[in-house]
Amino acid sequence: MANKKCLVACAGSGKTTFLVSEVWEQYRNDSVIFVTFTITNQKNISDKIIEKYGFHPSKIKVMGWYEFLFKFFILPYKADVIPALNGKSISLCFDSDYTKTYTTKDGKTFSKYKKDDKKKKYFTQTWGLHKDLVSEFACECLATNKDSVARRLNESANIICFDESQDFGETDFKIIHLICRNFKGAVLIATDPRQYIYSPSKYHGKNGGKIHQFIANKVNTKRHEYVTIDETSLSYSHRCNAEICKLASLVFPDEPLTQECKCPHCATRRMEYFSIKGVFAVKESDIERFIEQFSPLSLIHSRRETLTLIGKYMTIGDSKGTESDIVLLYPTEDMAKFVFQDRSTLLKPQTKSKLYVSVTRARHCIGIVYRQKYRFSNDLIPFWNNTYIKI
Ligand SMILES: [Zn+2]
Repeated sequence: MANKKCLVACAGSGKTTFLVSEVWEQYRNDSVIFVTFTITNQKNISDKIIEKYGFHPSKIKVMGWYEFLFKFFILPYKADVIPALNGKSISLCFDSDYTKTYTTKDGKTFSKYKKDDKKKKYFTQTWGLHKDLVSEFACECLATNKDSVARRLNESANIICFDESQDFGETDFKIIHLICRNFKGAVLIATDPRQYIYSPSKYHGKNGGKIHQFIANKVNTKRHEYVTIDETSLSYSHRCNAEICKLASLVFPDEPLTQECKCPHCATRRMEYFSIKGVFAVKESDIERFIEQFSPLSLIHSRRETLTLIGKYMTIGDSKGTESDIVLLYPTEDMAKFVFQDRSTLLKPQTKSKLYVSVTRARHCIGIVYRQKYRFSNDLIPFWNNTYIKI
């Protein structure tokens, strides 16, 4: 059985760089498919391929998840699910507010389609496939064509790499199951479960984001380990220093630690940095001065927040993929309680992910805004002393 791995990564561990390097080192002359979720990351992968190879080899295909599903699962088999699709072309319909049901004025909920009406369930009048149902429809196509799908994949690639795999939802898992069990080539699945913030689809299920657990429990069996779960290769952060990693690890005590990378490159970069380092509480009255001295990237919970913001800022959700030497976080009340007073404060899964993502955007320093209105004290992290002068 070829090499199949699920790499559980921490923030800043260089997932994408690692995948491209693995391909370069072990599968240089092979046909490769890279799959990821966002257009930004498709570009990021292509850039890294060009950096390594000097050009983009035609044997390496980079595609989005929907494109992958269309190409290998949907287009060849769509008429097996809905015969009327024979010879018809279909498109992707980006109606992110689509729902399978509707609610009447008196609060009753009804399905928008009859149980067996697949056309109405999945498609618009003009054969647009609802975005949130793409993988469900792909699974319908797969159901009667498993061998054929596997054959097409085997003919098309020697290795398939999935980046940002924490964005897979429960319906996507069936597809991953087939690939892990029936694809003959190698598979690399890189995931950072702690960075699962917004599910791309509302039909993601409660286990969305936990592809590594799905593989451990449902793909692998007692007798056969189809995929090796690797929790060590990507547990070092090239981005965050030790203090930041420590705080980030505390947010997810049950996941592997996020650790500072000590490679010569990272050590030199940290040595050459001379401004403020560490984790600080920043009093409301000090915000302006903090921003003036350090020009941090400010992170806010939502655009609706009423703040007098100065300098660069973005929402935590949008900040995935960015980094900055210094970050100033405006925490939600739950996050603040966890950070400043009580590390056993129970946080909702999404709040945990958002806190983890915010903290790990910072390379050298994170300031966390401490507000007067909190009914709890700050017992856990030092206040930023505004007499600090930038060297
Ligand atoms: Zn490093």
